[in-house]
Formats: sequence, C-alpha cells, structure tokens
Amino acid sequence: MGTAYTGRFAPSPTGPLHAGSLVAALGSWLDARAHGGRWLVRIEDVDGPRCVAGADRVILQQLHACGLVPDEEPTWQSARTAHYRQALDSLVEKGRAYPCGCSRKDIEDALAARGHGHARNTELVYPGICRSGLRGKPARAWRLRTGGTAPVEWDDRRLGRQSQDVQSEVGDFVLLRADGLWAYQLAVVADDAAQGVTDVVRGEDLADNTARQVLLQRALDLPTPRYLHLPLVLGADGEKLSKQNGAAPLDLASPVAALERAGAVLGVAVASASTAEWLNAAVQRWPQDKPPP
Ligand code: GLU
Repeated sequence: MGTAYTGRFAPSPTGPLHAGSLVAALGSWLDARAHGGRWLVRIEDVDGPRCVAGADRVILQQLHACGLVPDEEPTWQSARTAHYRQALDSLVEKGRAYPCGCSRKDIEDALAARGHGHARNTELVYPGICRSGLRGKPARAWRLRTGGTAPVEWDDRRLGRQSQDVQSEVGDFVLLRADGLWAYQLAVVADDAAQGVTDVVRGEDLADNTARQVLLQRALDLPTPRYLHLPLVLGADGEKLSKQNGAAPLDLASPVAALERAGAVLGVAVASASTAEWLNAAVQRWPQDKPPP
C-alpha cells in the first residue's frame, strides 16, 4: 500500500441507481477499502436538462441503504462551475482551447464535403473548421486543440494496455457546449484532480473517454490517476443496462441481496446476514492487484 488512495463514485442524477450502477458504486468502494483509502461520492449534475429532480437524494439514500457511505460530504458539480471556468481559461491561455462557431449542420456538411460521414457513436469527429479562427461566426462552444498530440497510451488494471489517437479518432472535442453547459470531460478531469482522486474505478462503458481525459490532464499539468473499468450488467437486449432499456431502480427490499448480485458481477461471492458484514467479508476477498473477471 503505502501511497494514499482516494477513489470516488460519480453518478449522474438522471434517475435512481439500477443494478448496473450499484456494480460501479460497490467496485469503487471495495477497491478504496481494500487499499485502506478514502471513498468519495460526486453527483455529476452538469448536464442539468438530463437530471431528474430529487434523483441525487434518492441515489444517496440507496447507497446508504447498501452501507456505502462516503468518507466526506458528497459534492455536486453544479456548484463547481467556477473551477471549470478556471480550467478552460488556463487552456485558452496556453493556446490549447479555441472557440467554435459551428452548428451540427456545419460539421455534417464539412464532413460530407470531405467524403466521410464519420460518426462516432452520435458524436461527429470535428473536422477543425474553426481551428484557425471563427471567420466572423459567433462563438458557440469551446474545443480542445488535439492537433499534434501523440496517441494516448494508458493502462487499465483490468483491460490492460489501451491506446487511442484522439486527434484522428475523436477530434477536437468540446469543453464548453454551445448550450452553455460544461462538458463531462472537462468537469470530470477538473474534479478528479481537485479532489485528489488517485484511482478512477467505473463501468467499462466509460473506458472510451479515458484517452480524452488523459489528454486534458496533460494539457492542464494534472496527474493521471490509475484506471480500473468494471464489467457491465447487460439488459435483456444485450446492451448495457440503462433506463432506456428498462433498467428497474435497485430492488432494495433486501440490501444484502442487492450487494450479492452486484458482487457476483465483480467475482466476489459472499453470504452474510447484514450489509456491514457482507461488505467487510467482500473487502477481504477483493483482489487488489488484478480485480474482477
Ligand atoms: N457521471 C458519469 C456517469 O454516471 C460517470 C463519470 C465517471 O465515473 O467518470 O456515467
């Protein structure tokens, strides 16, 4: 052990926790405890329109019912926008961020003119139209300049060595959105650093964001944490469990049973009568170096 460990669970309050989100909460808690570390909870409510009123409180109650209690008062990203502004200002000062006046249609047209309708999930690879100036258009969003960056290599404790050329695979990504909302990538990097997070433990669906986050850490002279991406719970359609494919809120009739189900996904089989006993036994079984299946 030796070095201090700070981990976190960072739910977006778009609804109550479901079976998949409990796996991320439990995995990050177990890893923090097994390392003798701190465990924080951060409510990621920067995307206001997607948030559901009261979901933050429900999530905290659900965690509490499962015995997952943060070591410090939870934080809300909506209260931290001044820090995101500071991070953006510093990127602008370093010449790493630039304003963009493009609408989605401008971007689609430019991509089509170049003969590729390259869609990445639903995000388009930005073709760099405003990279060298707005040419009279009003600024809508701010983007990170990725030109000239080498492919980002990073290690995941479960998935192994990863590599992504952000410049060609993602492009100059958004830091401050056209609708005035802070982008997840910037908020998460600013907060992980401000909270001294040493270990990011989260669902595998987020692994694809990591290279972007590492680039931002480097641009802001921030340390890169260790990463562990956990297995996902799949819905009946084989997709990641989400509210869109009907994930039910966590069934907390028996919190121990909910922990057992989440533990099974993480390869931790423990039977106990109380949540406290279950959690203690699970920490003993958590493989520190080479976690879950
Ligand atoms: N707020 C993100 C989500 O709920 C998680 C962010 C993270 O763990 O980095 O999907």
